[in-house]
Parts: sequence; structure tokens; C-alpha cells
Amino acid sequence: MGKKITVFGSFVVDLMGRCPHLPVPGETAKGSLFKMGPGGKGFNQAVAAHKAGAEVTMVTKIGNDTLADLAIQTMTGLGMDTKRVFRSEQTETGTALIMVDENTSQNEIAVILGACDTISDEEVESISDLLDQSDYLLIQLETNISSVEKAVEMAYSKGVKIILNTAPVQPVSDSILSRVELITPNEVEAGILTGIQVEGEESAGRAADYFLKKGVRNVLITMGSKGVYIATNERRGLIPAYRVDAVDTTGAGDAFNGGLAAALAEGKDLWEAAKFANALAAISVQRIGTTPAMPERSEIDAFIQ
Ligand code: ATP
Repeated sequence: MGKKITVFGSFVVDLMGRCPHLPVPGETAKGSLFKMGPGGKGFNQAVAAHKAGAEVTMVTKIGNDTLADLAIQTMTGLGMDTKRVFRSEQTETGTALIMVDENTSQNEIAVILGACDTISDEEVESISDLLDQSDYLLIQLETNISSVEKAVEMAYSKGVKIILNTAPVQPVSDSILSRVELITPNEVEAGILTGIQVEGEESAGRAADYFLKKGVRNVLITMGSKGVYIATNERRGLIPAYRVDAVDTTGAGDAFNGGLAAALAEGKDLWEAAKFANALAAISVQRIGTTPAMPERSEIDAFIQ
């Protein structure tokens, strides 16, 4: 049996409207399509790992409102444990208000993180028993940073391996970095966090050195259709992405991170795990949406064949 993963992160409801053009301030534009669906980096990654076959427990926080039902319904429908989903009586479930120009595909997005931005120290402490049984903590930067710091601290003290996906990017303390087993920024995030513009293998290598010097054990920089750059103190190199016709790369990073954690939990080494995650993400970018785009394990296995 595989090892256990706790995913600690955001849940937001994506509210997407398509319009003939993006309205200017003060304008009301008549839209043509509305879609609502579950999202949030944490949630997307948990679903990706779960569908890939991993044993995953999602920790997040939602409001006490109708949008919260979508989190519970989706998780229940997928057979995921909902026991570690906290509820806020004061703050609404997070939302992402997305407007898409139907001609240019340009978008404007406002994310209101809501409840998942209010995870208290006590709530993090209450997952102590879950972390005791976990082998990996997969965490992002989309919940309140105090909750990230607390969860990382607790996981580290229990010997849980921490995978930090640095999205959405914001400063990360040296103390957090020193506790991270594997960091997974994309090129832009790696650039912002290290001050080194990442454009290819050579600059990715220099950015990776920055993280390794801070005590991060393994660095993996995702580079879209180019693939991923991996660096450890022993070995480094590029693993190319699969060549596919991408139709929607939203959530590609989430697909990748969920797949990576799932593969590591199965006992694959980092290089094999990155290949598996590349495959999972390559399937997802050929589909519209985020959580619905995450493939089943059988689809990943068939793709890799
Ligand atoms: P996003 O913010 O859109 O979720 P990201 O910027 O966090 O994505 P990327 O580095 O763009 O992450 O992509 C993550 C992974 O997804 C890549 O390492 C690769 O495996 C896969 N991927 C992304 N785009 C493509 C593509 N066009 N073709 C094949 N694989 C892709």
C-alpha cells in the first residue's frame, strides 16, 4: 500500500462568465455563458492526487453557505474524506470571479479566498493526529501564511516530508525553506523568490542552487511545455514534457503537483515521479477546466504505455 498524503490548502468556487468583451469600469456587459465549479490550488492538487490513486486527506476551510456544499458534494462524489474540512461561521466560502473574453480568451480574475484564508492555529493543531499518520504534506501558499507556517512546523517536527508548491507566489521565510523536502515553483515563481530570471536550464540551475543553499533538499522547477528542471545536491537535469495539443493549461501546475505527490507516495524516485506527473499534467491540458480535467489512474497508465 502507498504512503499517506495530507494536502493542506485552499478551496474556492470558480464562478466563470464569458462575455463578448471584458467590461470596462462602470460598464455592465451582457455575458453569454456562466459556469460554476470547484477549485482552489489545494483542492485541485488533492483531487489530482486522489484520482491518480493516492491515499489523500484534504485539509481546508469553507464557509457555512450554499457554495460550501459544492466542496462537500464534490469530495463525497469522488470518495474523498471530508472530516478535515473546517467550517467558518463568520466568513464565506472562497470564490474566484473569472471573466473571459470569448473572442480573445483574455481573462480578469478576482480571487476572494474567504474562509480558507482564516485557518487558525487551533485548527492546524487539531490535525496533529492526521500528520502523525501522514508521510507527505503537500502545501501551497494560497491559505493564510500563518497556517502554512504552523502546518510546516508541525509536519517537520513529526518527520513528515514537506512538498511546497510556491503558488500563488509570496515571500517564503528561510525557516520554512529549511524544512522543505521538495520545492516546486514554476519559472515565474522561481524568478521572484530567488531574484534570478528563469528562462531555461542554465538559469533554472542557478535558481535551484539558491534553494539548495537555503536547505531545501530537492528542487523541481516546472517550465510549462518545456517540462521540469530537477536539482538535488547529487544530480540535476531536465525532464521534457509530453508533446500534446494543449487546449486549456489552467491548473496544469496543480495537476502536476498532485501527480508528483501521488507518485512519490507510491515509492517512485523523484525522476520517475516527475515523468508520471508530466503525463498527468499533459492529459489535463488537453481538457477544459481544472478538477474535471484531472485524469483517472487508468488514463495515466494508458497514456504512459
Ligand atoms: P498553471 O498556473 O497554469 O496551473 P503553472 O505555471 O503552475 O501552471 P507550468 O509550469 O505551466 O505550471 O506547467 C506545469 C506542468 O504541466 C509542466 O511541467 C508540464 O508537465 C505540464 N504542462 C504545462 N503546459 C503543457 C503543455 N503545453 N504541454 C504539455 N505539458 C504541459
